[in-house]
Amino acid sequence: MRYNRDMGELRLDELTKIFDDRGTEVVAVDELDLTVRDGEFLVLVGPSGCGKSTTLRCIAGLERVTTGRIRLDGRDITDAKPKERDMAMVFQNYALYPHMTVRKNIGYGLKITTDLSKDEIRERVESTAELLEIDELLDKKPKELSGGQQQRVALGRAIIREPEVFLMDEPLSNLDAKLRTQMRTEIQQLQQEMNVTTIYVTHDQTEAMTMGDRIAILDAGELQQVGTPLECYHSPENRFVAGFIGSPSMNFMETRRDGTSLVHDAFEYDLSERTADRLPVGTDRLTLGIRPEHIELAERSDRNAVATDVSVVEPMGEVTYVYVEIGDTTYTVSVDGETRIDAGDEIAVAFPEEKIHLFDEGGAALKNSDVTERAPPQQRP
Ligand code: ATP
Repeated sequence: MRYNRDMGELRLDELTKIFDDRGTEVVAVDELDLTVRDGEFLVLVGPSGCGKSTTLRCIAGLERVTTGRIRLDGRDITDAKPKERDMAMVFQNYALYPHMTVRKNIGYGLKITTDLSKDEIRERVESTAELLEIDELLDKKPKELSGGQQQRVALGRAIIREPEVFLMDEPLSNLDAKLRTQMRTEIQQLQQEMNVTTIYVTHDQTEAMTMGDRIAILDAGELQQVGTPLECYHSPENRFVAGFIGSPSMNFMETRRDGTSLVHDAFEYDLSERTADRLPVGTDRLTLGIRPEHIELAERSDRNAVATDVSVVEPMGEVTYVYVEIGDTTYTVSVDGETRIDAGDEIAVAFPEEKIHLFDEGGAALKNSDVTERAPPQQRP
């Protein structure tokens, strides 16, 4: 399918949306600054209620913004009607017309918003259906289709309009886990093929990590970080992002700094002078963060080794999640699936300094993990 479209750089300038909930102000989106580049796949992610859908609905024109501007390729569209915005939205509930065939569902938007001839519409419906591999289903009604097929029809309805921007609001959350993984890849491939600016809303950090060119993380209406998935994973700007991105979540331990030592209720961790020197003076309460996959098994006598009691062991196959008690808190350790550890064991663990994160009392990251990317081994022809 040939896709004719204009550029599509979308800019949000201090976008704010305040709802009036029976006399109480609810700040759903708080001065959000965000630029989505032309052709980019940007995932807007965050916990329930953080303002993702409201942001998307403001961009689509379904919600009137309180303050701030929305620009598409420099054109101010803040007050434009939805149909003047050249955007197509795909929702979680596919909202297909039940009495119409797949063919009519896909072509309906074109029929009412363009002056294309019947033949031109038929051609576009058929090439869109081919692209989505639903051409066999064109004469069926929605109730005869599986959830995945219905979602493809909903995508078809958006694609056929050749918009400048796709807006997707949790489009896969009604599908079972296996289909969701498959559709995730398909949507990514389609988006790459069509190269259309896409904003994809989800609360699922795995979806965000795997699909986004970049991800924007929201909490309580405020933007926490925008970056590539790996930037957000390795270099979270704050504790919220550190805990939200990555699964299982990062472990956090409250410590008090004493010179080069971090003193926790159950252990002491000695920092190298180099790291200690880089910490701002006056930061006494520090949270030590370490991802489950970065904790190493150690000998009790090793430097900085921490003694733990294993409470639960969850084998996943490739890896095993081991829940350990340090003081009165449970932490997660991810070990190789072939490592034999049982509930009730006492094990020592270590937190390699290059992998630890440190956060100040306000949650800002003072130190992140040091990452050196490796090139793959040379491939022989
Ligand atoms: P979810 O993943 O649960 O859909 P979300 O991140 O998309 O969450 P929004 O639906 O954008 O969050 O809601 C953001 C905040 O705005 C929430 O506190 C919500 O209760 C509030 N809100 C949303 N719509 C309205 C409305 N029409 N009137 C009043 N408050 C609203």
